[in-house]
Parts: sequence; structure tokens; C-alpha cells
Amino acid sequence: MNYAVVLSRANQGLDAPLVRVEVHLSNGLPAFTVVGMPETAVRESKDRVRSALLNSHFEFPDRRITVNLAPADLPKGGGRFDLPIALGILCASGQLPGDALLSSECIGELALDGTLRAVRGTVAAAMAASQCKRRMVLAQESASLCQSIPGTHMVCATDLLSLCAVLRGRADPPEVESMEAPPVTTATNLAEVCGQHIPKRALEIAASGGHNLVLTGPPGTGKSLLANCLPGILPPPDDREWLTVCALYDLQGKIPEIRQRAFRAPHHSASAAALVGGGPIPMPGEISLAHGGVLFLDELPEFSRHALDMLREPLETGEIRLARANCSIRYPARFQLIAAMNPCPCGYAGDSEKPCKCSAAQRLSYGGRVSGPLLDRMDLQVRVDREDAVDLFSGHGAEDSVIVQGRVVQSRERQFKRQGTSNAQLRGSALLDSCACGPEERRLIQRSAKQLKLSARAVHRLLRVARSIADLRGEDTVTVTALKEALSYRDTLRPTQ
Ligand SMILES: [Zn+2]
Repeated sequence: MNYAVVLSRANQGLDAPLVRVEVHLSNGLPAFTVVGMPETAVRESKDRVRSALLNSHFEFPDRRITVNLAPADLPKGGGRFDLPIALGILCASGQLPGDALLSSECIGELALDGTLRAVRGTVAAAMAASQCKRRMVLAQESASLCQSIPGTHMVCATDLLSLCAVLRGRADPPEVESMEAPPVTTATNLAEVCGQHIPKRALEIAASGGHNLVLTGPPGTGKSLLANCLPGILPPPDDREWLTVCALYDLQGKIPEIRQRAFRAPHHSASAAALVGGGPIPMPGEISLAHGGVLFLDELPEFSRHALDMLREPLETGEIRLARANCSIRYPARFQLIAAMNPCPCGYAGDSEKPCKCSAAQRLSYGGRVSGPLLDRMDLQVRVDREDAVDLFSGHGAEDSVIVQGRVVQSRERQFKRQGTSNAQLRGSALLDSCACGPEERRLIQRSAKQLKLSARAVHRLLRVARSIADLRGEDTVTVTALKEALSYRDTLRPTQ
């Protein structure tokens, strides 16, 4: 036999498309060619594979070796094809029986001495393989990450020689250590935040319905501290959500340290690529690492307008599509946006202690740095003011995050039972169905829409927030009380005159 096919997967977001690695040995002058749109790292795999085979005491065929990575129009990068190429050569040259790799997919980089190395994106590949009911052949280092994938079947080893022994059935596969992250929280406890009753209540509503929230106020009033409380009151991620988060981290070559909803707080100097993903070697950005959790943007107006505008699409669709030269890559990015900003450049507009030094024009242009369409997607807008010294010491007895989380979990359960999604995702007719209200409520909405000049989008936002307030209170319909409270969480961003 001079020909072998080994299945593998390319690194293209969470999609991980299938790649057939075809190896052909033919007569002629000894040569080693890789075709099928290989990027530099894949072209270099020739040298790694040759050394790894020789150092693992295999024979490197002294013939003309052609490796084709199909489909040819799919770009392929990284060292992930080292292992399938090496195994393909072993099968084609008869050093490994052809049926050893039946219904298997292989992924892994080889060191020159034959050691198997983990590669980015293995979790996504293993998820796709388990859906196709194929077993995964990979480095032991990656196996512990993939263990929690339901229905996954893996064969792993630390080096090429022992992997081949396992594949021939001559050795037992090594034990895989579980790498389950501990379910602890690094979030600030709400009980540690003194006073701030209205912002705390807004946080609870935001957590309950998955709403976006803007906190406005002078510096030093604890806006970041409040935002940092949010992961602690959100419902813990379920197994499926958690697996997606692990797969996204793995695409960046990282592992989440603890099992809680993400809290990502990129600096305002972060580039658009760092924020939404991309770069020469495509990688998920902060918004995808925040998938299922919180993206916190402190000093919102300081972010580049371009970067902020790129958030609009994922805020609507829950994913980001990045166009590349020859393909498009999709990363999940359903995050909850929490933003904090000062009311003006000096920060003290509307403050009770320090006077604001900014001109009206400065204040206007500061607020204008954040685009209207982005602000339009912020469901709740809350002002955070300085707490009186008296209140600072009366913080004892403030509610613990665990109690608030209990209410949030109950409210989420109501939402999923009723409409199969969180309130923040309600659109169109589903929104109107879920937010059934009586004649009195309708009159209130019409009156407010007229008085406050609310757009249709703003009315929808109001309804969604009111729905979450009603869910927290355990009410089936949206009441006047809920609507009135929802109305109070808006319009803090109009520049102070
Ligand atoms: Zn000012």
C-alpha cells in the first residue's frame, strides 16, 4: 500500500471544518511535498515530521512523498497537521496497520524528538469529532481539556512512539487527569458595596434579564466595583455554555481558571482586533471570551469610535463574523455589556461636592463620542453618585450576592419557561406576547412615549426591562409599578445643561 488518508480538522473558529490528509508514496527521486493551501507553519511541518519519525525509531521512506490537504480551498495553518501527516506516512509505508485509524480524527504538533504537543483549537475539533461519532487521536496535554465533552472518545499519548503502540493495541492509553475548573467566584460581593441602592437594584435587574447597563457618575463613586459584582449574581453557567467558553479560550491557547461567568474588562486603548477578534492568525477577541458573561467597558467614551461601532452587530446577533481573504470565521459572542463613564471630561458634572470645570460644548462633545446606535442598545442607564459619609458606615446588613443570585436564578427560570430565552433577547412578536399588559399599562406607555419622545426601539427596551422587573417580583403580567421603575432607569446620558 502506498496511499493513506487520515482525517483532521482545520482551525476556523468553533466550526473546525474537516480536512482529509492524503499521503502518497511514489517511486522517483526522494522528495517531500505538501500541497493544498498550506501556510508557513504547515509547510515547515515536513522537517518536524521527518525528525520526529526518525527519532521515534521509525523508518522515513526514501521515496517521493506527496501530502495533499483537502479541501484545497480551505486555508490551513499551525502545527496541527504534524500528527496526521506522520501517521499517514506510517500507514502508507506499512509501518502502521491501515485499520488503526479507522473512524478517527488526529490533531497535534510534533517536537523533533517525537513528543506530542497540544495545539490551539483542539476542544472545538474534538466537539466536532464527537458529533460525527469519531474518536479523537491527540496529545495527552489536550486530552484533559477535551474530557468534559459529552460522548467524546479519545486516544492520547505523550509521544509518537507510545501513541503508535496504543493504536496497535500493544499498550494501554495513559490515564487522563481531569482539569475541571473549580466553581468559585472572584466577583466582588454586593454586601461589600456600601449604600448605592439604586445602582445595586439596576444590577439585579440587568442580571435577571441579561440587559446591557450604563453606569454614569463622578470618578471614585465605585462604578467599577459595582460592575465587578455582576458575575457573582448571574446564574452559574450550565455544562453546554461552559464547554463553549472552554472551546473559545482554547482557541487563544488559554484555559479558564475558575468556573463562573466571564468578566472581561479590556482597557480603552485596546485595538478593534483585540476587542472583537481577528489578527494575522485569527483569534477570538474579548467579546468572545466574554461569551455568556460580562464585557465591562470602563471609561466608555475613551474607546475608539471604530471599535465601539463593531460591537453593534454582536450585540444584536450574539456572534461575530470576521471576513478573511478566502473565508469567513464565526465566533460566538453573546455577552452582556456593562459600561461606565464620567458625565463630562472633568468628571464632576452634577456632583454635590466638586464643581464641574467643563464648558457646555466640551460636555456635549464628550457625550457625543459614544454613538447613538450603541447607546440605543443599552437597556438600563443609571447614575452612580457619591454616598454620604453616614451611609458609608451603615453598609452592614447589605444583601449578600448569594441571596440576590437566588432571585436572579428564579427570574431566569420563569423567562426560559415562558419564552425559551432571556428577556434581553426578546424581539418582535415574541416581545409583545411575553409583555402582555392591561389598558392602564398601555395608557402609561403611550403617555410616556409622547412626553419623553421615545422611539419604537426605546419603547421595546422599556418593555423588556419592565418584563424583567415583573419576573423578579414573580408577576405574570407587566404592571404599572414595573413600567414606572423601568422608566426611571433611562436618560441619564443626556448632557447636563
Ligand atoms: Zn466637567
